[in-house]
Amino acid sequence: MTQRYELHDLIRTDNFIDGKWVPAASGKRFAVTDPATGDVIAQVADSGPTDARAATDAAARAFPVWRDTLPKDRADVLHRWHALILGHADTLGRLISLEQGKPFAEGRGEVMYGASYVAWFANEATRIYGDIIPQQQRGKSMSAVKEPVGIVAAITPWNFPLAMIARKIAPALAAGCTVVGKPAEDTPLTAFALILLAHEAGVPAGALNLISASRDNAPASVKDWLDDSRVRKITFTGSTPVGKYLARESAGTLKKLSLELGGNAPFIVFDDADLDAAVSGLMASKFRNGGQTCVSPNRVYVQASVYDQFADLLAKRVAALKVAPATDPDAQIGPMINARAVEKIERHVFDAIERGAQVLTGGNRLTERGPNYYAPTVLAGATPDMHLSCEETFGPVVPLFRFDDEEQAIRAANDTPFGLATYFYSQDLRRIDRVSRLLEAGLVGINEGALSSEAAPFGGVKESGYGREGSKYGLDDYLSIKYRCQGNLA
Ligand code: NAP
Repeated sequence: MTQRYELHDLIRTDNFIDGKWVPAASGKRFAVTDPATGDVIAQVADSGPTDARAATDAAARAFPVWRDTLPKDRADVLHRWHALILGHADTLGRLISLEQGKPFAEGRGEVMYGASYVAWFANEATRIYGDIIPQQQRGKSMSAVKEPVGIVAAITPWNFPLAMIARKIAPALAAGCTVVGKPAEDTPLTAFALILLAHEAGVPAGALNLISASRDNAPASVKDWLDDSRVRKITFTGSTPVGKYLARESAGTLKKLSLELGGNAPFIVFDDADLDAAVSGLMASKFRNGGQTCVSPNRVYVQASVYDQFADLLAKRVAALKVAPATDPDAQIGPMINARAVEKIERHVFDAIERGAQVLTGGNRLTERGPNYYAPTVLAGATPDMHLSCEETFGPVVPLFRFDDEEQAIRAANDTPFGLATYFYSQDLRRIDRVSRLLEAGLVGINEGALSSEAAPFGGVKESGYGREGSKYGLDDYLSIKYRCQGNLA
């Protein structure tokens, strides 16, 4: 019978290696805190290279068995894992809220979103087709088959502590790869809970290994994977500088890489847009997770003739957002993840004001609520020289830029090294076709603020990385193609 876990049962503080919960070899631990209060939730294993190596050893031993497990049997394990995640949706949602700070409804939403990738890749596991190549010579048969790449190292950020790791582990296991992983320092508990359920679902010992590490020890732990030629692939979601570092440092063993990196998403409102729909779309995409998402609109461009009306409508909606801890059922914006995050937001807003922006609402910390709260903010009069125009603010701040014509808007939107998400609102069909072709990005939202789906390819261009997660393309990153040529048949 399937065990039902309460929140305290799901909180694991040791590494999961070779099917067992083990402390870090050094015996060291670090504190995971509640961002709403700063209170310590748990002390978890602070791993180093020895632990990373033990995880790789286990993944190497498990690989031949998992690779040769029938795809339909791998799919069954993933379906069971999916059912267990859904069966614990409320508890996992509470755990996400506790360590990451997002309101419970969003935490639960993240569980459902992450689970959708597990179900998707469970089905995809049974559809890894190859090709029979049309005959080129008599007596010769040629085919292409897809094989798992081998051991995959998965490194994930704190902003979606369940979904980001689920959408890496699920395709890796579906493809027949084994996994070593490291979640972010701020949010290891959700990842461990997910791994507990995967083990219960029947993922065999060694096929899935997870270690936690403090920010100080993470680089040395991961370096062991980068240097180990048995690890054949790195799948990473996080910032662009760390993604570039991983690409450089893994070059010695020439690994396959998937890099889901930072964004600096533009959101364009043309004068023919439905302004109410545009405001609602912006609210949904900007304020999810308090603005701490890679697809969060970071620069909002509004055509001059509708600028004041749009700014007014938006500022009213933003001022009404309820900022509260995740435990408050009416919370819409929780705390930011940590003090560094709030300092960055504050720096961006100060800089913008100094360079001439006007605060329409917000613009300050909410220290009376707790250590990491920042008021939802709208700034008018944003200009390209401001820091928030070039870097992700990763917080609840909307800067409004004014533009005159379509060409100017597209030029400004593309004037960034990043290319993850873009959004625009217009009701002109010709413009929709033109603008969606010209925007340099992996994702384009047209009159829509919520883009993510397990059925769609998610990923960036330019310095937002490469590789795609989800969709029929999502398994390709975990497979390599083998060409087979059989001769002397005639
Ligand atoms: P981050 O600092 O790059 O960290 C991501 C992961 O890498 C964490 O597990 C982190 O561990 C680890 N890490 C950091 N430095 C490392 C090093 N030198 N060697 C090995 N591992 C290292 O990013 P973050 O602040 O957690 O996440 C926010 C960023 O992620 C934003 O830029 C956001 O846009 C991006 N993001 C992108 C996507 C996407 O799909 N494109 C989705 C979500 C987020 P520690 O936690 O211990 O530092």
